[in-house]
Amino acid sequence: MLPLDREQLTAAFDADEDLHIPDLKDVHWSVLDYFGWVHPSGHLGFVVLQSPNDGQLRGIRMTREKRRAKKPRMEMCSWCHHVHKANGTAMFTVSVRGSEGRHTLGNVVCKDLDCSLRVRNLMQPDSFMRETLYQPAKIWRMQMTMHKWLGRANQL
Ligand SMILES: [Zn+2]
Repeated sequence: MLPLDREQLTAAFDADEDLHIPDLKDVHWSVLDYFGWVHPSGHLGFVVLQSPNDGQLRGIRMTREKRRAKKPRMEMCSWCHHVHKANGTAMFTVSVRGSEGRHTLGNVVCKDLDCSLRVRNLMQPDSFMRETLYQPAKIWRMQMTMHKWLGRANQL
């Protein structure tokens, strides 16, 4: 994606949010499909991406819940399909726009919202499930999944 500054990231959200935008100086924008970060409280996640409908930036606020499995087990991110050992994912929930918070949609996603790096094998450890899928196809699949989910929530 193209580099964004703090003003652009802030402007992608409708309301005045307590965004806590991280330091942007070491962000490698060229390897990102979306810009995601977690609020220091750990209870919120934010994603900024380009809408496939009009090309405008959209800011998505999600609640974030750590998943604590009693028994360690493999967990797969539903966006990038990275398979983590235990505790590598979190449940992110978005509210359906227009429902005043009555309808929400949840998704199990990489807990630090770093899927773009994972689909490009830039994060260690590697996925516990090896996929032979061509990298651009993995990126395309991830974008489609995100667009579908956020589209259902009327967020795009
Ligand atoms: Zn992921």
